[in-house]
Amino acid sequence: MSLREQLCEYGRRAVELGLVIGTSGNLSVREGDLVAVTPSGAALDRLTPEMCPVVDVEGYLVEGDLQPSSETPMHLAVYATTHARAIVHTHSVFGTIVATTMTELPPVHYNALLLGGVVKVAEYATYGTPELAANVRAAMEGKKAALMANHGGVTVGATLEEAFEATRLLEWLCEVYVRGLSVGKPAVLTDEQLNAVIERALNPPTFPRRL
Ligand SMILES: [Zn+2]
Repeated sequence: MSLREQLCEYGRRAVELGLVIGTSGNLSVREGDLVAVTPSGAALDRLTPEMCPVVDVEGYLVEGDLQPSSETPMHLAVYATTHARAIVHTHSVFGTIVATTMTELPPVHYNALLLGGVVKVAEYATYGTPELAANVRAAMEGKKAALMANHGGVTVGATLEEAFEATRLLEWLCEVYVRGLSVGKPAVLTDEQLNAVIERALNPPTFPRRL
């Protein structure tokens, strides 16, 4: 699948799963110095490959008639300082709730380790600005996800599929935490408990075969 076809596929899935309403979200995928990105102002479930612009890592338009997403500077800032090859940004409901009420998402489930543990909320700045790009880059350091204050969430991956699954996981973790708060006080995993999970994952048990 070409980069632009991937954007159509995952844009459609993002809308189907309710992670994105209409035009509120954007995806990109990088190959070499080129980045295919969803266009500005287009519904993500109605994209065609030729609608998706291609920019280079310096932000120059290389292909396409439509303007790249207004959040392209944020995508390029993350590409510039990480090994990410794909980025997904949405205004998903539970991610946005956490991003408007808290400064970080504490690890209440060990799967948070897949995103780097605590998910930080990047300081608020106007959408599409270099300031927001810098804030997201800082919050994302060493992690696969960040939330953006009063805005939404962003995840990275080695592939678009990976970045997309990270967005689904981020939304699930935020939902568990937010719903948990309405029931009681969610217990936060300690560093010791999280380290034990890493230890366990690195040394999975093997089951001897019955002869
Ligand atoms: Zn946004």
